[in-house]
Amino acid sequence: MPGTYAIAVAAGRGTRFGGETPKQYRMLAGRPVLRHALEALLRGGGFAGVVAAIHPDDRGRYEQAASDLPLLPPVHGGAQRQDSVLAALEALAPFEPDAVLVHDGARPLLTPDVTGRVLAALAVADGAVAALPVADTVKRAGASGDIAATLDRSALWRAQTPQGFRYGPFLAAHRHNSGAGLSDDAAVAERAGLRVRLVLGSEENLKITTEEDLARAERLLLARCGDLRSGFGFDVHRFGPGDHVMLCGVRVPHSQGLIGHSDADVGLHALTDAVLGAIGAGDIGQHFPPSDPRWRGAESAHFLRHAVELVRARGGLLRHLDVTIVCEAPRIGPHRPAMVERIAAITGIGPDRVSVKATTTEGLGFTGRGEGIAAQAVATIGLPL
Ligand code: MG
Repeated sequence: MPGTYAIAVAAGRGTRFGGETPKQYRMLAGRPVLRHALEALLRGGGFAGVVAAIHPDDRGRYEQAASDLPLLPPVHGGAQRQDSVLAALEALAPFEPDAVLVHDGARPLLTPDVTGRVLAALAVADGAVAALPVADTVKRAGASGDIAATLDRSALWRAQTPQGFRYGPFLAAHRHNSGAGLSDDAAVAERAGLRVRLVLGSEENLKITTEEDLARAERLLLARCGDLRSGFGFDVHRFGPGDHVMLCGVRVPHSQGLIGHSDADVGLHALTDAVLGAIGAGDIGQHFPPSDPRWRGAESAHFLRHAVELVRARGGLLRHLDVTIVCEAPRIGPHRPAMVERIAAITGIGPDRVSVKATTTEGLGFTGRGEGIAAQAVATIGLPL
């Protein structure tokens, strides 16, 4: 299918970081950097297909990071960045693309306006590159580390990604310059004599290279999602026959079970409603009707994950979750750390942003009489300003 395709380059080893995990798979606000980059590309919109070039060793990491995103199957990249892009371009050939956009998997904060400027410029040039004019005075260092010269910065730009190109000439340029070890795609296009236009990128569109970059990206992301909202959730399930209850995703042995259409996890149900409430997206019953046989015995983690995905689909961030379980028995305290860990794992936020509390009602009311368990929850989220 013709149209514009996007390539996310994510095959690098990121050795400057040290440690086991390549930079594009490091966690940023609870999710892999690459996941942010892919979603940012998808939000930029209108692509006929998006493909990632990954390292074969990262297959498992990629599956985790990109599962459930509407992407083409990943391709295995090569030793050099240029090899990875070429591999992805060849994989796209059967689709006969009109144009292709290349983006670094380690640039998680891309915004649709930057993508739009690159795509718009493709109408009048062979290629277009997001870039920033150099604002600092530029020095050339001599061998001793002393300044050898002060350069004229007026015509200098720092190239970022995305970089977009007409597909045919760009593929030919890549094939012709294969193995040249060029550091970006514009350089490949320039060598082939293609006309490549500079368009304005964004300071926020930084490339994660160091721990400091990661911390800065997290600060930028939190600041970007400064429209804070809170949502409240409440749920009750009645005791029935059984030998355990599911609470906050943890199996807790008990002399009774909880009755419900799904696994009757009151904690996760209250949290799901709280998250839905924070974005005004209705309630759990609307999204997962009890009349639908698909949800019979369902694991409630699925409901909460869905609510959180709705927040993320709006470019939002989950900031904090707080749930209180109300019952006389079972005792919650011993299971609290496991519950916090489980909620953090389901929602992809740090355990320091999850709170699980428990209380009794001093023997009063239905929980006091041991007829069932109630839960209340508050979710705090940030939407883009
Ligand atoms: Mg319920």
